[in-house]
Amino acid sequence: MKNIVVLGSTGSIGKNTLEVARNLKDTFQVVGLSSNSRWELLAEQVEEFKPRYVALTDSGLAEKLKQRFHGSQTKILTGNHCLQEIVVKPEVDIVVSAVVGAVGLPAAIATIEQGKTLALANKESLVMAGHLVMPLAKKNQILPVDSEHSAIFQSLHSGKPCEVKRVIITASGGPFCDYPADKLSEVKPAQALKHPTWQMGQKITIDSATLMNKALEIIEAKWLFDLTAEQIDVVIHPQSIIHSMVEFCDGSVIAQMGLPDMKVPIQYALTYPERSPLDVRWFDLPALGNLTFRKPDVEKFPALRLGYHAAREGGTTGATLNAANEVAVQAFLDGQIRFTEIASHVEKVINHHHFIKNPCLEEILAADAWARQEMKKCLI
Ligand code: NAD
Ligand code: MG
Repeated sequence: MKNIVVLGSTGSIGKNTLEVARNLKDTFQVVGLSSNSRWELLAEQVEEFKPRYVALTDSGLAEKLKQRFHGSQTKILTGNHCLQEIVVKPEVDIVVSAVVGAVGLPAAIATIEQGKTLALANKESLVMAGHLVMPLAKKNQILPVDSEHSAIFQSLHSGKPCEVKRVIITASGGPFCDYPADKLSEVKPAQALKHPTWQMGQKITIDSATLMNKALEIIEAKWLFDLTAEQIDVVIHPQSIIHSMVEFCDGSVIAQMGLPDMKVPIQYALTYPERSPLDVRWFDLPALGNLTFRKPDVEKFPALRLGYHAAREGGTTGATLNAANEVAVQAFLDGQIRFTEIASHVEKVINHHHFIKNPCLEEILAADAWARQEMKKCLI
């Protein structure tokens, strides 16, 4: 029996993780849950899984939860450090980090420092501070949940690290893949929130529409698999059947495929190195028909270029890009900026940030805070 904590249990990845845990209840016990809103859904999850700990960052909502579960076995934590408090509990074996944004970084570091396995969906923590997080982790202590990185991780089993030539990350292309470039500045949040192949939280759905998600994934892959930016290619594959590939030095290309369903990479991260049965839709290639591929249009989606830039530069560039993007995405959702301004404003913020080559955690957090302020100035 493995004890798991799900950070961000009320989100898209969080709910899928609980479905995996529900189906494998003889293998996994949910001992911790967390959320920063949706307390009623969190309460339902507490009823079902009876975790020992629940972290609810909003103290007003935490009070409601405390009243509801008064006298029960579940301890309710709140405040700025409640995610870290929960992951360091001695009985925890695996932490699934499915929170969105920079808030995931301190909990990721605490998880690794305590020697627990980190099943990582929160790519932002590696984008911000991969150079700090990766050296703390033992081999396979961080298991990727992001579907592309799970695919690369699985494909890498076919060879040795020194035999890897490059990785090819696939991208669906998002809802605007075929949309005229000169009309992109007019698109509304409702259009950008309609992803063609994946059902996800709002922030990553907008990131998928700008291709900033792919930019973040380039940086995530660099850190997870110790690659250079030059070893990472992106290809548009609208059907999202091939989740990513690894090309080895002998020309063999190993791909991991399947119908798009986040439960597959989530479960693999939880059961690794084993596999367990999962009730997925039948993989019917003739019914799928064609798998197609094309080059991404970097002029139309400049976020991709920013991802490569941050992967090459390292230092504080990833944290700056991530924080500026978080604020810009929210501003777009709130109708304050145009769709195309997300990437252009992020680029401006990156271009005049104070670059530090080998920043410590405080410097990373300072770069994050500075980038948020700078982006807010772009909104006035
Ligand atoms: P979501 O918006 O659906 O859920 C986010 C969760 O994080 C919620 O439970 C929310 O309560 C919690 N949260 C948000 N802000 C918080 C804060 N300030 N403090 C504490 N908790 C907070 O997001 P999602 O789509 O599930 O994505 C979660 C993470 O997984 C992101 O980093 C995303 O990039 C990554 N990811 C998601 C998918 C997907 O299919 N949804 C795929 C790959 C990677
Ligand atoms: Mg992904």
